[in-house]
Amino acid sequence: MTEPIATVEQAGETKRVSGFSGTDIPSYDDYARCVHCGLCLNHCPTYKLWGLEADSPRGRIRQIVLVDQGRLPLGDSFVKHIDQCLDCRACETACPSGVEYGKLVETARSQIEQNYRRPFFSRLSRDFVFRRLLPYPRRIAIVARTLYLYQRSGLQSLARATGILKLLGLADRERLLPPIDREFFFSRLGRTYPAVGHRRARVALFAGCIAQVSFSALHEATIRVLTANGCEVVVPAGQTCCGALAAHAGVRDAARSVARTNLGVFLREDFDAIVTNAAGCGSTLKEYEHLFPNGTQDHAKAAAFQKKMRDATEFLAALGMTAHLGSLPLRVTYQDSCHLLHGQKVREAPRTLLRAIPGLELVEMSMADYCCGSAGSYNVTETQTSLELLSEKMKHASATGAQVIATANPGCLLQMRAGAEIHSTGQEVVHVIELLDRALASR
Ligand code: SF4
Ligand code: SF4
Repeated sequence: MTEPIATVEQAGETKRVSGFSGTDIPSYDDYARCVHCGLCLNHCPTYKLWGLEADSPRGRIRQIVLVDQGRLPLGDSFVKHIDQCLDCRACETACPSGVEYGKLVETARSQIEQNYRRPFFSRLSRDFVFRRLLPYPRRIAIVARTLYLYQRSGLQSLARATGILKLLGLADRERLLPPIDREFFFSRLGRTYPAVGHRRARVALFAGCIAQVSFSALHEATIRVLTANGCEVVVPAGQTCCGALAAHAGVRDAARSVARTNLGVFLREDFDAIVTNAAGCGSTLKEYEHLFPNGTQDHAKAAAFQKKMRDATEFLAALGMTAHLGSLPLRVTYQDSCHLLHGQKVREAPRTLLRAIPGLELVEMSMADYCCGSAGSYNVTETQTSLELLSEKMKHASATGAQVIATANPGCLLQMRAGAEIHSTGQEVVHVIELLDRALASR
């Protein structure tokens, strides 16, 4: 592996300079770990779809190296192949050399953000979503109320029935809109929920951004399950979006800004753990360190914060469930969330919890560790590829004969609910925690 070339014009002789500049440059130490063995290739959904080296992990790493060495322009081709990556990190799990691919692709995207001019509408929408919407709960609430009216006033049914969405090319994306709650979870911020019986732990709940307007019921279920198992649950006020969507898209200034807010809020008090029911958020929250340079105060805070960060299933399985569970006579299959399995290396915890429910039969689907196509905002930006992956996923899920598909991430829930509808599988898609909550209710 050649070291990056970063020289400038000297004595009239033009030398190649790195195509990367500014902040968050993919590190030589990170990409030099790749030994080109190709063991990751068959684990990569985009490589399996198209069979192109340029859309494989090894090929993408090579392109990052070439841009860093000034041998490939940071132009349309590079942007296309990096954009087409799901950031599912299945390649990380497969890699014997310990390449932290997620870190590489996210810094490459940050370079694109800083050094490449996207089309006008793309720049506008990225700026609006990542910098002007997600960090602001009030703005999220305004957009959500508008969407709620659209969904509940009959307008949505009308738009679907008249085919106008198809005409505008929006039918697929519209289907992926989260159903908006009548009451938002924002009203619960600042509350503390006492443990049922003897207190075994005191935890903080990370509530996220979009989840507060479309997954309030999941948050309520998480609180019920945690308190029933002896946890006092604090929902700290002032918390905000985790920054995962922005970090995945390379908008790292926005991710850093919300991370600083969350570090201030969650380190104010001492908790045994900080818990999230969203694997996509959890993966970024556990890697806040990556957003800040070594040796800075923010980096030290991030280190303290992420030590406490746990996925809800990981936390409960480690704590051990003490609450009595009623029977749920259901055949259930589990879909691994990429950011729980590949990002956080949590595989067994959700399965352990599901097996603990009396009457529930857990059946494994083949390729459960393969992305469903949700991948943060990938289903919006690369909709057709996302739907192809979803179609494969639904075939595997359907083949299990399970009535219920369980997973551990709101993004995957939305994607597979759309999949069950599009492919008429008749399966219900729920979070693992919601099944535990139902088992508690059926005692
Ligand atoms: S993150 Fe996923 S899509 Fe991207 S290169 Fe790795 S395996 Fe392929
Ligand atoms: S498995 Fe790891 S070392 Fe091998 S090609 Fe893929 S990223 Fe490189």
